[in-house]
Amino acid sequence: MGSMALRAGATRLFVLALSVVGWLAPAAAAEDRRTEISALTARIEALPERSRLLFDLTGLPPVTAYPVANPPRIIVDLPQVLFRMEANAGLSPGDKLIKSYRYGIFAPGRSRVVIDLTGPAKILKADSEVAPGGPRLVIELAPTSAAYFAATAAEEARRQPADPAPPPPPVAAKPSTDKPMVVIDPGHGGVDMGATGRHGELEKDVVLEFARALRHKIEAGGRARVLLTRDHDMFLPLAERVRIARENNASLFVSVHADTLAAAHVEGATVYTVSERASDAEAARMAEKENLADQAAGLESKADADEVGDILFELTRRETRSYSRQFSHSLISFWKEVGALNKNPNRSAGFVVLKAFDVPSVLLELGYLSSDKDLARLTSQDWRERAAQKTAEAVDVFISERSREARAPADNPSGGARPQ
Ligand SMILES: [Zn+2]
Repeated sequence: MGSMALRAGATRLFVLALSVVGWLAPAAAAEDRRTEISALTARIEALPERSRLLFDLTGLPPVTAYPVANPPRIIVDLPQVLFRMEANAGLSPGDKLIKSYRYGIFAPGRSRVVIDLTGPAKILKADSEVAPGGPRLVIELAPTSAAYFAATAAEEARRQPADPAPPPPPVAAKPSTDKPMVVIDPGHGGVDMGATGRHGELEKDVVLEFARALRHKIEAGGRARVLLTRDHDMFLPLAERVRIARENNASLFVSVHADTLAAAHVEGATVYTVSERASDAEAARMAEKENLADQAAGLESKADADEVGDILFELTRRETRSYSRQFSHSLISFWKEVGALNKNPNRSAGFVVLKAFDVPSVLLELGYLSSDKDLARLTSQDWRERAAQKTAEAVDVFISERSREARAPADNPSGGARPQ
């Protein structure tokens, strides 16, 4: 008994000694426990001549910060940090230099804080440190000249590596059947939060819940396999979403979004397809906004490199777009039964995420987080189940028609076949 107690006491001492060592060598300890660091609170301190953004942490991660121009932002790169505060903490901090800030997972093992600036700023300090209240992340900014900001941002753009290596794309398990694949793409994620509702509802969360419900309904129908481009809260570049659909040989790609507008009375779902020219001004605005998703995470938006193709490419693209429109019409007629359509539910514009030339693709805008009615629907599990059910029925009809066409190639010279 005595020796047991002694051993327990020794173990306690040993643990104590370890934590003291951890405290004395915080950088090394943080390195070992890098996946365990959480951010618990965030706040801004406005000081004379500068602004300080603080995150209370549970460890001391290495910090890299640099400016990015157009629009002016400060990017703060961290190893994976779990942000555990209210998701809308940074939306309108009311600071003279920091317009807003976002945070979240940027890539596997990497987190990021993106600070939107009201004007040019220089970084006085960006580090993790031990304060009397515990470890914290400190970012101190001061106003500077536009010329200085532009010069440092240009220098960083040369120094920072281009985009991070994209995460390995989710690849479906080897199919046990030859069922067609439907790829569902919950918009945004991680540091890119998408649209926000008045009470802090986030598009990235709303669309992920819907996508999961939709996967469940489609799988229950038994006609198709389903793959989600992301199944948790992480950032994914637009081009990567398209690549996942193409690499998995998808028969249909459905990107799920929700919008917000200053006009709170605008409500209902809209289905978008891709087109060179936008169907209307609202669709053009929507595409422009959604195409900025990569920028929200601090990536430079790449010029949209339209694939130039031969005649087969053009024919395939034309056929794919006609299938996209066909699915869009069908989806809208199914959604009528859920009773929540926009006045003009069928629109088109140049959405980057819909540009796979050989995968029929639509963007389903579930509704507006700025509308009280839509918000009530979007956050209701009952509504989500019904809307996902109707969407799954439209998917089933589309898949069945496509397989019938594929089985009767004589009637349809193109046969719905896709070049490999
Ligand atoms: Zn969106």
